[in-house]
Amino acid sequence: MSSIEKLAEIFSKFPGIGPRQSRRFVYFLLTKDREFLQDLSSSLLTLKKNIRVCEFCQRFYQSGNSNSKFCNICSDSNRNNHLLMVVEKDADLENIEKTEVYNGKYFVLGGIVPILEEKPESKVRSRELVNLIEGEVKNNGLNEIILATSANPEGENTHSYLLNLLRPITESGVKVSTLGRGLSTGTELEYSDKDTLKAAFENRH
Ligand SMILES: [Zn+2]
Repeated sequence: MSSIEKLAEIFSKFPGIGPRQSRRFVYFLLTKDREFLQDLSSSLLTLKKNIRVCEFCQRFYQSGNSNSKFCNICSDSNRNNHLLMVVEKDADLENIEKTEVYNGKYFVLGGIVPILEEKPESKVRSRELVNLIEGEVKNNGLNEIILATSANPEGENTHSYLLNLLRPITESGVKVSTLGRGLSTGTELEYSDKDTLKAAFENRH
């Protein structure tokens, strides 16, 4: 395998990247100078250094020198412990944070449940979510879980799976709400702007 093919194969494993785009990346890199490539490779090699997974929300965060097991959001005592928003991925959480319309806590599922998936629990952090919610309801007064999956077929499927998964918790009196579909069909949270997200949050049901 040539080095072009080898690198193209690596890029084709990235989310949303097909064989044609992965080759475009390789040819783009071939036009760059040595300094650019060195910068890229050292960024890759140091990426996972000091990056941890938050024990509460499960997002990746830069731990710096602190020994905290929680990210800056989860260790912030000004956040509202009564609200928990469940999102698909880190990028969704970051986008919602940027809008400053939400002050509760988060949980990152780490994926979606594909349609007709036989083992949905293997695709998202189901057990971690249930454990976290049970603990938070008991110890921190959590009383509303906001499901914020994408407005596309897989997002809807993930949403249905979560409603089912959380049924015993709902039956015990905790509210489970869904972001209002001000988000137009097919929109991913990751790309939604502030006004859209604000309306979706206020119109949750
Ligand atoms: Zn966190």
